[in-house]
Amino acid sequence: MPIIRKYDWRTRIPALFECPNCGRCFELLAFTNTCACGKDYNQGGQGLAPRSQWGEETGESLGDILSIGHYEA
Ligand SMILES: [Zn+2]
Repeated sequence: MPIIRKYDWRTRIPALFECPNCGRCFELLAFTNTCACGKDYNQGGQGLAPRSQWGEETGESLGDILSIGHYEA
């Protein structure tokens, strides 16, 4: 795992991560972090399956997952 700097739980400075796919560096701020190249990583820097595969294990549809948190008036 290409973690450049580990998350510091005392100062809450997020981990710095180098994307193995494109070499960009970014902080792992969120539960899911999307690199500029389009790859998704979790907070531990582990690559997530492409979004087209999300839901295969849970039985949820992609629409269900992507609709979370989007409430339009
Ligand atoms: Zn990348």
